[in-house]
Amino acid sequence: MGILPIRIFGDPVLRLETTPVTDFGPTLQKLIDDMRATMDGARGVGLAAPQVGRTERVAVIKVKKAEHVLVNPEIVEREGTIKWEEGCLSIPELYGEVTRARRVVVQALDRNGDPFEIEGTELLGVCMQHEIDHLHGKLFIDHLSFLKRQKLLALWEIERVKYPNLVRIAAPIDGDKEHDRHDDERL
Ligand SMILES: [Zn+2]
Repeated sequence: MGILPIRIFGDPVLRLETTPVTDFGPTLQKLIDDMRATMDGARGVGLAAPQVGRTERVAVIKVKKAEHVLVNPEIVEREGTIKWEEGCLSIPELYGEVTRARRVVVQALDRNGDPFEIEGTELLGVCMQHEIDHLHGKLFIDHLSFLKRQKLLALWEIERVKYPNLVRIAAPIDGDKEHDRHDDERL
């Protein structure tokens, strides 16, 4: 498994609509494994294909040590609302409170093409909604009010200079020495 460069806000690939997966061969298998390694390396809880520059409709999620591979995922049920402070591996250091459905049911295919259904609330539910957004070119900042978004974009003007090539490389995990209060919100 290899760690892939993570595309940063401003890269047009993050705004592309993805293409449903129909071929579950070695190319997809490698992409999934590389995405899992990249998510772990970046200590994220979710990663969608456009974040590594790809347009397959695939996301990986790891919440509370439970890992899920979502191919062609679709939200089929939404219930209630919840506010959650979200961040994004593609928009480092920026966080914003997003209103999401409190509970969602998602239908997807697994890495072998077999259908399954998964229900999520709290972080898992938020994460699935965030990653599925990515698969349709949408970012968490799009959910913010105009003023909140302007505020984050102003902060981003300062942060973006760290990523002149619009990529970041996640360092491989080195034990558990680093802790960050936002560990759970990187999606
Ligand atoms: Zn994200």
